[in-house]
Amino acid sequence: MAIIAVIIDCAFDAKLTDELTKYLLENGFTVQKENESVVTTNDPKLTVDNIEWFLKKTDKIKDLQIIQSDSDTIILATKVMIEHFGLGRCSICGFVAFKDELFAHERAHGIGLM
Ligand SMILES: [Zn+2]
Repeated sequence: MAIIAVIIDCAFDAKLTDELTKYLLENGFTVQKENESVVTTNDPKLTVDNIEWFLKKTDKIKDLQIIQSDSDTIILATKVMIEHFGLGRCSICGFVAFKDELFAHERAHGIGLM
């Protein structure tokens, strides 16, 4: 699935945003640095896998987590800071989402079981 907007939400980490923008441009993707912590793209070639590869290549994968908050927004957050950004984790399957979405998600598990 193509990403339309990539949000770097690592506590507004400008250095990470710069690194990711540079990496993606060097690898032939069309991206735009929106501000200090947001990278946007409408490049259909860019997928979550490319972002994950960047994290692996730069050895950030142990500190950062990719969170797909909806179909066109990716958040890169430090693993310990999920709760600080209003995100929660599903107690059933570990899925990460914003708390209000998580409520519907967890309820869907219940409906599935009935
Ligand atoms: Zn779940």
